[in-house]
Amino acid sequence: MSNFGKGTICVQGGWTPKPGEPRVLPIFQSTTYKYEDIEQVERLFALEEVGFKYTRTGNPTVAAFEQKITALEGGVGAVALASGQAANLLAITNLCNGGDHIVSASTIYGGTYTLFATKLRKLGIDVTFVDPEAPEEVLQKAFRPSTKALFGETIGNPGLNVLDFAKFKSLARRFDVPFIVDNTLATPYLCTPLQLGADIVTHSATKYIDGHATSLGGVVVDGGSYDWANGKFPEFTEPDPTYAGVRYVQAFERAAFVAKARAQFLRDFGACLSPFNAFMFNLGLETLHLRMPQHGRNALALARFLSKHPKVSWVVYPGLESSPQYARVRNYFSKPEGSGILTFGLQGDLQATRRFVKSLRVAALVVHVGDARTCVLHPASSTHAQLTPEQQRSAGITPDMIRVSTGIEDAEDILEDFDQALRHADA
Ligand SMILES: *Cc1c(COP(=O)(O)O)cnc(C)c1O
Repeated sequence: MSNFGKGTICVQGGWTPKPGEPRVLPIFQSTTYKYEDIEQVERLFALEEVGFKYTRTGNPTVAAFEQKITALEGGVGAVALASGQAANLLAITNLCNGGDHIVSASTIYGGTYTLFATKLRKLGIDVTFVDPEAPEEVLQKAFRPSTKALFGETIGNPGLNVLDFAKFKSLARRFDVPFIVDNTLATPYLCTPLQLGADIVTHSATKYIDGHATSLGGVVVDGGSYDWANGKFPEFTEPDPTYAGVRYVQAFERAAFVAKARAQFLRDFGACLSPFNAFMFNLGLETLHLRMPQHGRNALALARFLSKHPKVSWVVYPGLESSPQYARVRNYFSKPEGSGILTFGLQGDLQATRRFVKSLRVAALVVHVGDARTCVLHPASSTHAQLTPEQQRSAGITPDMIRVSTGIEDAEDILEDFDQALRHADA
């Protein structure tokens, strides 16, 4: 499958039925699997045989979704999770123990920022947040001997800065740490971070992968590129006493990260994806290659319209030719359209912003991005409300910021809706 184009993988990847089997991926709504004999179960629990044991650590519907995402991202394997939050938690805790340290871009999704800043520290994993636009010499100072990962988002949410992959790759290689990228807002249709130097990719599948705002989930893709046997990650090379002494690098070679993640994280923390949600994500992925260009076209049309509007004081959209991020969009993305997310601010006070949002008819105020329906959000009072003003600034949030996620409706109707709502912002 991975030799096919992205559109073909979107439609047919993951599930390859044999003659007589359902053409459409079935929902295997089963917690359990039947075996020949005790010896087979013994081999499964010693990780000597690949197979399903219990749906917490694997399920055929979930596996088909994992394989489709693996093919789209160009990895060696993937683990699906109950949410994007669980995906980022797995990506870090599969590598780090108490006493370890990670370096992360500060311009990341609010939920990930809070996870890193509070819960990881509670586990004894220290985090240094850095401005991803700082020069490489400055960023080098954040690394310590205990640093075990470098983390960033392809498109920061909601600052919309496109990651400088060349600089981050260079830092990760210099300090020999795995480079983890949250690719949620770009999707594998627009950007494949594994080809740009990332070792591990994470997603909130809740957004564009689902695409219809029906299901919560996440996924972590293993690029198979990092050398876990370099002495920094003994858990990958020492025997795991909880799985008959398996050594992950020796047993699973390039897929050691994903094997360990499934064996340990899913078994112990249990944040697994339900088969039903995997079915929904697979269905969503079947149209990802059709939806993303329309999201991008609508976002670009709206960004151009807002840039010229007298009541709008600023617009950020990486796909605008005038954007300082545009060169990176051209360099790193498969298509010149960016993603469907843009931000802007209105002239006037917060009351004008409130009136504008209340007047929208096509777009709705919801806590979401990546839906087929256009939506808006005011980050300073919602997703990022619990951050201090200083943390908000470093995450790229201003008090007047409105975040828009353009849907796949007709562009004219979205533009007209914003136009009429802008007229109501004054009154
Ligand atoms: C939404 C989001 C998450 C968290 O995902 P959930 O599925 O809501 O848990 C993580 N990263 C990014 C970039 C997101 O947009």
